[in-house]
Amino acid sequence: MVLPKAGAFLWTTLHGRILTGERLKLIRIARPNVCLLCKENEETVEHLLFWCSYTKKVWDWLLNNLQYESVRSQSLKGFLLAWPACYKKSKWSILWVVSSAMLVWHIWKERNRRVFNEEALSLDLLIPKIKTTIGEVINVKVVGRKYCAYSSWDKEMERLWNLTKISSYKFADKKQNRASTVWIPPIAGSLKVNFDGASCDNLGKSGYGTIIRDEFGNFVGANFGPLGITSNNMA
Ligand SMILES: [Zn+2]
Repeated sequence: MVLPKAGAFLWTTLHGRILTGERLKLIRIARPNVCLLCKENEETVEHLLFWCSYTKKVWDWLLNNLQYESVRSQSLKGFLLAWPACYKKSKWSILWVVSSAMLVWHIWKERNRRVFNEEALSLDLLIPKIKTTIGEVINVKVVGRKYCAYSSWDKEMERLWNLTKISSYKFADKKQNRASTVWIPPIAGSLKVNFDGASCDNLGKSGYGTIIRDEFGNFVGANFGPLGITSNNMA
């Protein structure tokens, strides 16, 4: 489930709970604290997902394709929240949320690819992957949304992101497209725990992740860890 995973990851990230070199050092797991994307700087969350020269090129690609000129703020969170207010009420706010979550998620996966598989993807290979995922998810997410003004920017975004025409959006087949999953809040006064596991190759290094949210969808806590070598189904 790409979107819920990427969304949960972004939440975890913004709360500083992902295991970067910086955090591993805090909990005393020895690993050289060097960013594997640029091999120049210390690996902190902000560096890895925002300031790194490799990551920066991906952000530049995204902003360019959104025709969005943004001043880099002091933090990733500030930058993510700075999407222009005039777009906030339109369905295109979903494009920003989805595309930024996917970008961050793919950068994290690339970092893990380098840590665990000792393989590296160049930007030429990573960017098309991100673009495909965004296109897949956004086409599902905008289904059925109320839609107001239609500008040349909307038209351009449809072309750039290969989105279907507004009038022809169709409800995705749930069996075909798992990304159509929607998070439903728990009843008032209670918490909801969502969890999932995955393995890298079917019978490979595996892990799990858990996220707890309240009735308003507010983040309460998260946890994740390794499951050793197991199958997709077991994870
Ligand atoms: Zn770096």
